[in-house]
Amino acid sequence: MTDLNTLTITGARAALDAGELTSVELTEALLSRIERTDPSVKAFLTITADAAREQARAADAGRGDPASGPLHGIPLAIKDVICTEGVRTTCGSRILENFTPPYSATVIERLRASGAVMLGKLNCDEFAMGSSTEASAYQTTGNPWDLSRVPGGSSGGSAAAVAAGLALGTLGTDTGGSIRQPAALCGVSGLKPTYGRVSRYGLIAYGSSLDQIGPMAWTAADLALMLQVIAGQDPRDGTSAAAPVPDYSAALSGDLRGLRVGVPGEYFVEGMEPGVERATREAIDALRDQGAEIVEVSLPYTKYALPTYYIIAPAEASANLARFDGVRYGPREPGDSMWDQIELTRGHRFGVEVRRRIMLGTYALSAGYYDAYYKRAQQVRTLIKRDFERAFTQVDLLAAPTSPTVAFPIGQRTDDPLAMYLSDVCTLPINLAGVPGLVVPCGFSESLPVGLQLIGRPFDEATLLRAGDAYQRVTDWHTRRPQL
Ligand code: GLN
Repeated sequence: MTDLNTLTITGARAALDAGELTSVELTEALLSRIERTDPSVKAFLTITADAAREQARAADAGRGDPASGPLHGIPLAIKDVICTEGVRTTCGSRILENFTPPYSATVIERLRASGAVMLGKLNCDEFAMGSSTEASAYQTTGNPWDLSRVPGGSSGGSAAAVAAGLALGTLGTDTGGSIRQPAALCGVSGLKPTYGRVSRYGLIAYGSSLDQIGPMAWTAADLALMLQVIAGQDPRDGTSAAAPVPDYSAALSGDLRGLRVGVPGEYFVEGMEPGVERATREAIDALRDQGAEIVEVSLPYTKYALPTYYIIAPAEASANLARFDGVRYGPREPGDSMWDQIELTRGHRFGVEVRRRIMLGTYALSAGYYDAYYKRAQQVRTLIKRDFERAFTQVDLLAAPTSPTVAFPIGQRTDDPLAMYLSDVCTLPINLAGVPGLVVPCGFSESLPVGLQLIGRPFDEATLLRAGDAYQRVTDWHTRRPQL
């Protein structure tokens, strides 16, 4: 009998293919678990139970159809910044309260075409700005390992849903760490693909030169199945790349011999919790035991990544969020003139963090300051990118911590934006460079999960997934489940 509480996508695939399980049974089991558990976890903003049942029935009817993909009949859930036709999409913001997109993102179309079942939409920080999911206008998601702590963010709902067993896989987005940091804090696996690897058509933009959509699930093998479906060029997204998409599952050889892994000293930052450092270093030792060659490398511009990111990301956000004026999307506040309406709608319906980002970004882009801030930040960004290019002439991938701390208590950092921003200090540089990053669970510190971050060459997600999968063949952190 299949244990539905510990099921992975790979496990469910095998059970579905063997006829031991139907998609309807699996979907019903997850829906009832959502009904029981989500009132305390609060991962979901919208549950699409009827549509999920319908899709599961269709998947069962189409079983064995040669066109069906690896996700056929697999229940998934989606971060609420990705457009879903006919299903409310809020970005965790009151400014998109009850906004129902007239079309679906390319990633949603691809998942549906492969036969995946959609359970609903997941909580996140408003417009993906944050590291704890506390900036959602709707609810605060709890970390399934300790409900008094944050799940990380901004894809906190996506990480918590996997960790709590409410979906077998989820989509998140990552602009500065929003897939990897919550994956680490919730003890699950998550992949930020290379910039351009996955279409962003239908993603509501935050920082357009940084944003990527990526999968979250228990294992690297599961991420490989999901990436296979969503990766590849899309004529509707001019930033999606033509790079060929390899067979990710076929790349999971389990073999790390000869792989050169660089450890950047700069990522073991001051203030890192000793338990996080210990778990990370033990994971790197485990890679060495499997035949990888570990070398020290230096990425000297790392210390400039945080200030650089907090100019570029807010600058892009201030431009992207200009479209939310109460005229084109979502609700509108009443006012005497059009300008009053716009001002009241934006003033009342954007939360405090989003307004802070808009002001920071507008300032950095304003005449007289543009050269000193935005232009200089772009120049430093190039230096950060070159750090990675140089490192990748010596090594095949990098191994580093994901976040300096484990999941912190709800409320601890909400009044201190800088403390919040610092939780992404090890993940932001990867977005500035545009390279891919994978997180796999690598242990616990004070009973809370720690994640190992692996960073790869552009478009070489296959090597990352191979390393993450090989690590998971000899460790069992990804098999631990929180008691809920
Ligand atoms: N925490 C970072 C920010 O607030 C990153 C968020 C993200 O990756 N979407 O910008």
